[in-house]
Parts: sequence; structure tokens; C-alpha cells
Amino acid sequence: MLKRSAVRAAIYARGTIGEAAGAVAVACGAVPTAGRFVSSQPKRVVYDPAEAAPSFADLPLYRGILKHKEIGRLFDIDDPFYRCHQARNGVTTQIAGKNYVNFASYDYLGLNQHPAIVEAAKTAIDNLGTSVSASRIVAGERTIHGALERSLADFYGVEAAITFVSGHATNVSTISTLMTADDLILYDDLSHNSLIVGVRLSGATAYAFKHNDAEALEALLLEHRPFHKRALIVAEGLYSMDGDVGDLPSLVALKEKYGAWLMIDEAHGLGVLGETGRGSAEHYDIDPKRVDIWMGTLSKALASCGGYIAGRQELIDILKYQAPGLVYSVGLSPPLTAAATRSLELLKAEPERVARLRSNGKLFLSLARAAGMDTATSEGHAVVSVIVGDLVNAGRLADRMLARGINVLPIIYPAVPIKAARLRFFITSEHTPTQIREAVRTMREEMDGLGKRPRQKQAA
Ligand code: PMP
Repeated sequence: MLKRSAVRAAIYARGTIGEAAGAVAVACGAVPTAGRFVSSQPKRVVYDPAEAAPSFADLPLYRGILKHKEIGRLFDIDDPFYRCHQARNGVTTQIAGKNYVNFASYDYLGLNQHPAIVEAAKTAIDNLGTSVSASRIVAGERTIHGALERSLADFYGVEAAITFVSGHATNVSTISTLMTADDLILYDDLSHNSLIVGVRLSGATAYAFKHNDAEALEALLLEHRPFHKRALIVAEGLYSMDGDVGDLPSLVALKEKYGAWLMIDEAHGLGVLGETGRGSAEHYDIDPKRVDIWMGTLSKALASCGGYIAGRQELIDILKYQAPGLVYSVGLSPPLTAAATRSLELLKAEPERVARLRSNGKLFLSLARAAGMDTATSEGHAVVSVIVGDLVNAGRLADRMLARGINVLPIIYPAVPIKAARLRFFITSEHTPTQIREAVRTMREEMDGLGKRPRQKQAA
């Protein structure tokens, strides 16, 4: 049980809620403290059969959850996580019978529930059922899988593509299949969890380089590249927590200079970056074949679910026959496959969606900056984060925005650094300029109100 009196004392002693939140985070075990790493100590017996069987409730992971909830109660913040939406998540949504303008869904091109996509998904169910009921390598292969993968490869201008049932699993499985303990991986330190899990699972020697910093990457390459036959550089097209674009030209130059492979996660880049939504290669006018591994998800601009890898045929063959997340997992379901294929067709046929998204993103960013908000490195491409300091501020602001009819989620540690909690706005092609202006104005008002109206809940 977190001691309320201790937290309150910390607030008054330390002066700011941010510092108190930092103290609470340490108490929760969120910030590693010196001396916790014990793997080099000699083995000793720690299991005593006479004691009660280990309980999940004793796991630090569980205690961390309870403490976060307690902080919420203490500061009178509603839990924003796993909140149930009752309607389609689009530009508007419905929660507990109330309507909200929604800035928390990555339906970037407004294709979720587009009639043509719904129709394609229904037809696929009629023809092929809701599941392929087997891994593709055995009895789960359908012609629609190949059709989607052909379209993805053509869209990228590379030889081939392969789809997985989850974007997260795509990264985990691809990196851990390709790279081994003998290899080197250098990854941007703001990489998505799925990339990092893949890196860890591979067993490769791995170093994070400072976000979007080509010099830091080159220093690591100079130091470590000679000692590994193979090396992989991992980065993203558009960073989903900060809304900035990866430095593809430098990454490509370095990967060519040092003989490394380059993997770019385009989860938030596809349909967003580039004149026609082809992603970061189009954004920078770089030949997509110069990137070895294009990764993306079907769950964002393509309004479906699943992930893909696109690149050379032999890469795709390795994954098709060797990636556990593919070989030992069911094939992508017919409605999801059909929905993604139809979405990609619409993305190609209606580039005006990408243009609308671009102008909405720029509008949001320019208004937020003009209102004096800290948008850090956000570049105004579908993701704009407003940094608000700590988890308590972020939770309170999200709460108050909701009370004023705007759904936007707080992003807190460990997804972002402890003192860089933020409200992250996902902007889509379907938001109206009025909704955007209103959201920024409301956010400004609530940020101003936050300092003046501390709502410290008294202990019962
Ligand atoms: N990569 C990035 C950069 C992501 O942001 C996400 C999830 N949002 C994923 C991979 C995983 O994709 P999915 O949610 O489709 O599994």
C-alpha cells in the first residue's frame, strides 16, 4: 500500500507535483535503482516448500499496477485505460452513452467502416469464413493473402511482402528470426516496444543510439561494426510518441557505408508520409530498394489488423519458412485480409485523403505552437504530442479534456520518459478544422486552469 501521507508530504516538501510523481515512480519501482541487478551473485536457494505457493499478486508487475491506480485515486484522476467505447472509433466516439470528438484513434485516413471496406470484409466472410483455421504453411493459405502481399510489395516498389496476424508479432518474429547472438543490432532509443522485444529475443549484441542522431549511430558503428559479420540498424518512419520523422537519408547513407541492413518500421508512416502516402521513402524521395526491411502494420491507415514485411524475395522466403510468428501462427483472417487490400486500393485511388491529413496535421501543430504548447519534436504528421511534465498532470488534463467532450489519451512512463508525460493527439484526414481549433483552445484553457486549481484529494 502506497502511503498517502508520504506522497502528500513529498508534494509539500518538494514543491511540485512533478517531483512528487517522480518520487512515487521510484517507490513503485518504475525507475531502476542501483543494486537491483543480481545476476552475477552466486546461486542460493530461494524457494522454501514450506512457504505458501508464489502468488501473482506478489509480482512487482502487479504491485506496480496497484500503485498506479492508487496514484489515480489520490489525485482524483479517472483511470483512462481500457475505457470502453460503444461506437465506431472515428473522428467521434461514444463512451458511457456520451459523444466525444476523438483524437485517440489511428484511423489516419478515416477508412474504418468505409462502405467499400465493410463490403469487402463481408464478402470475404461469405466466401471464406471468419478464420482460415490453420497456419498458412499447412492448410491456411488463401489467394487473398497473396493478393494483399502483391499489392503491398508493388506499393513499396520492392520484390515481395509477407503478412503476419499482428504488427507487434511481425517485429518480434522478424528481428529474432534474422539476427543471432553473433550479430550486432543498433536501434533508435525511441523504438517501439515490439522492435525492442525482437532485439532482445534475437540474443544479438545490441546498443540503442540517441534518437534520430546519425552521429551517435555512426560512433557505435565505428566502435562495434568490425566485430560482427552481420549488423542491423532499426528505426521508424514516423515516431508515434513524438510525431517526428526518422532521418532516412542519414540512415541509408550509414547502412551503405558500414555494410549493415536497415529496417524501417512504417507503422505510422504508411498512408501518412509522402505525397501519396507511400511513407518515408516517398517523403525523402529515396529509392525504397535501398532499405532492406520495410515493416508496417495493417491496423492504422489500412483500418485492419496485422503486420507486414516487404523487401527482397529471399528475405520474404526466410520469414515464410522460418519465422515462428508465421509458421506457428494462424494465417491472417479473410475479413481482415480483404479489408486491408481494399483500404490500400482506396489509399491509391484517393490521395486527397493523404493531402487532407497533411493539412490537418499542420493546422494542429501550428495552432498548438501558437498557443505556447510544448510540442517537442512533433512535425505535424498525424501525431502531435503536447508535453505536460508528469503523469499526474497528464492524467488530470486527459480527464478534463474528456469532461469537455474531447477524447485524448495521456502517455506516461514507461512508454515515454518519466518527466515527459504528454497528451498525444492522433489527427486524421476526417477531423474538421473547427474540431482541431476547438481541441487546441480547450487544451490551452485546461492547461492554464491546471496550475490554478490543484484538486488535492483529502485522505478519507
Ligand atoms: N510498430 C509501431 C511503431 C507501433 O506503433 C505499433 C503499435 N501501435 C506496432 C509496431 C504494433 O502494431 P500493431 O498494433 O498493429 O500490432
